[in-house]
Amino acid sequence: MEDCIFCKIIGGDIPSTKVYEDEDMVIIKDIAPQAPVHLLLLPKQHYPDIIAMSDEQAQTLARCLKKLSAMTAELGLEGGFRLVSNKGADACQSVGHLHIHILGGGQLADKMG
Ligand code: AMP
Repeated sequence: MEDCIFCKIIGGDIPSTKVYEDEDMVIIKDIAPQAPVHLLLLPKQHYPDIIAMSDEQAQTLARCLKKLSAMTAELGLEGGFRLVSNKGADACQSVGHLHIHILGGGQLADKMG
């Protein structure tokens, strides 16, 4: 997608700090971290949000999450982590390319909202 900032990051047209990349996804450091570890899992295929995906994209996302679960220690998430995916205006989604926030690296607040 031409105007998608995350597509540009995935394509290397906009710099980012990539901590992992494979054929399905990249994981980058969030530019405005909200936790000691704040990463963004970006599927390489462009689709707008967590409910917009095809069956095939859902399978790819499941594969991404399985791979994430195998690398939590190397990402500094041994103590636990939180996954968040904002969808739509009420949730303040600001980038229309599915992304999963990965938050951890220390004690997180016990409430969200
Ligand atoms: P959301 O508000 O859920 O759509 O999340 C978008 C996230 O993308 C925010 O946490 C931003 O800090 C992050 N973000 C925006 N631009 C960049 C960028 N160029 N590199 C890394 N993270 C970014």
